Amino acid sequence: MQIRVLGAHGGSTPGHRLTSFLLDGGVCLDAGALTCALTLDEQARIRGLLVTHSHMDHVATLPFLVENVFGRVSHPIEVIAPGDVVDALSAHLFNDALWPDFTRLPSHLLPVVTFRPVEPGVPFRVNGLTATAIPVSHVVPTYGYLVSDGASSVLFSGDTGPTEALWRAAHDAKNLKALFVECSFPDTMAEVADVSRHLTPATLGKELAKMPPGVPVLLYHMKPPSLAALEDAIAALREPRLRLLTDGETLSY
Ligand SMILES: [Zn+2]
Ligand SMILES: [Zn+2]
Repeated sequence: MQIRVLGAHGGSTPGHRLTSFLLDGGVCLDAGALTCALTLDEQARIRGLLVTHSHMDHVATLPFLVENVFGRVSHPIEVIAPGDVVDALSAHLFNDALWPDFTRLPSHLLPVVTFRPVEPGVPFRVNGLTATAIPVSHVVPTYGYLVSDGASSVLFSGDTGPTEALWRAAHDAKNLKALFVECSFPDTMAEVADVSRHLTPATLGKELAKMPPGVPVLLYHMKPPSLAALEDAIAALREPRLRLLTDGETLSY
């Protein structure tokens, strides 16, 4: 499996892109920066988008992706998530107020985007990959995803504070190559992190004990104003499994 880190951050500056990953060229996980990082041709090759939750830093470029591929794709892009996430996107984003309802454009028979609600915990297929949504602990309904190409699997945490089901899924996963885990705020902002259900280096350190040992833990969703403090704090944990991801890197498993 090839994973392109299109955006590794939980905030946006000219040097830091919002959360988005591209898996094997055809499936995206979150849409914080898809249209900032991918060419028009690459955007037109997207077949499925796994959405962790409805927060703007994870769906900000979805409206522009849909507009860019309008008229360029013969099949609609599938936006895939459990029903509560799909409902939020339908009610609050593609609601004909914030953005047109592209599930009915150019017509409801030939839309440019379709929503596919999936059942948490039940594996489904998307463009040659198998994925499973797993509920995590955030302030709105949010899901991590276990994704496998048959030979390798990887796990994405989504936005989450301390959580349980996700790590059980990690222990059960076959050929797990990497855990992509959020780490948003430094420990000096622990109160903000706790209230908004995010991890800090200290709470991440406790979560590490729940994760399968020996699997690399790749950190993302760092808030750009806190990036330097997070880099120092992660280095101070002296945990060889941990590494902060950067925008634009490609990983192969
Ligand atoms: Zn976020
Ligand atoms: Zn969030």
